[in-house]
Amino acid sequence: MTDPVVIAIDVGGTGMKCALVRPDGNVHHTERHRTGAERGPEAVTEHILEIAGGLADRARADGLDPHAAGLVVPGIVDEAKGVAVWSSNVGFRDVPMRALLAERLGMPAALGHDVRAGGMAEARLGAGRGEPHVLFIAIGTGIAAAHVVDGRAFAGAHGAAGEVGHVIVRPGGPPCLCGSRGCLEAVASASAVGRRYAELSGIADAAAFDVAARAAAGEPLATAVWTEAVEALADGLLTAQALYDAGIVVLGGGLAEAGEALLVPLRTALDQRITFHRIPRLVRAQLGDTAGCLGAALLAQDLEAR
Ligand SMILES: [Zn+2]
Repeated sequence: MTDPVVIAIDVGGTGMKCALVRPDGNVHHTERHRTGAERGPEAVTEHILEIAGGLADRARADGLDPHAAGLVVPGIVDEAKGVAVWSSNVGFRDVPMRALLAERLGMPAALGHDVRAGGMAEARLGAGRGEPHVLFIAIGTGIAAAHVVDGRAFAGAHGAAGEVGHVIVRPGGPPCLCGSRGCLEAVASASAVGRRYAELSGIADAAAFDVAARAAAGEPLATAVWTEAVEALADGLLTAQALYDAGIVVLGGGLAEAGEALLVPLRTALDQRITFHRIPRLVRAQLGDTAGCLGAALLAQDLEAR
């Protein structure tokens, strides 16, 4: 009997991370591809199906048995129906991805949301291992969260749970892409930190990571911008903690690359705000940018377990 593997694909705005994953979580093979979102959603969909087919062929050529597939995408995802409802950066509008994938591959398939899948992977395989109540927060271009309980991420009634990036932390503050003002992600996402520093300093291409480094080196302007972001994150996190009472908060995405330069002041800012809340452990994600892909593999493996 040949060894089983699942096909895992994480579609992002610019790139796709793909893998063949064994039941014990070991990765047999990985591939990366461009998403090519500029070619439109139909072309992206066909590209995903071709890549999935190629991965199945590769598994068989390696003497393995590809028996299920997991695909995760950004935006709003109806996991129960298997439909990519809406995604601003890939352009999906009501694409029945799960059915298309299952039909193309002739095997069971699962469709999930990138951040929720990444949170599941961190909870089961990464920084949240052993903790039943995990809140994973990805801080990159935007801010999104996954609430994972006993290894399962909650999608909400409409596939739109976990949007902590749009908790308003600074009423009347900077405009957010969602149309509101003062949302957490408009103040404290990696993009917002870079933008704010650029505005104040005139240095156009400042990344959040540079701002953290400059702040650590004692530069006053960078320190002010970084502190502003950390304070806003603490406010957002306090709301999240009031709602979820997480045992551990796992921070991922570009901003978390700052490591202790983020975690130390954030813990202090959170401690200063806590009233009745129970303080969660605050840690950095462990799986990096492979979390979404590993989460896609878990979704595929969970199909078997059902
Ligand atoms: Zn918003």
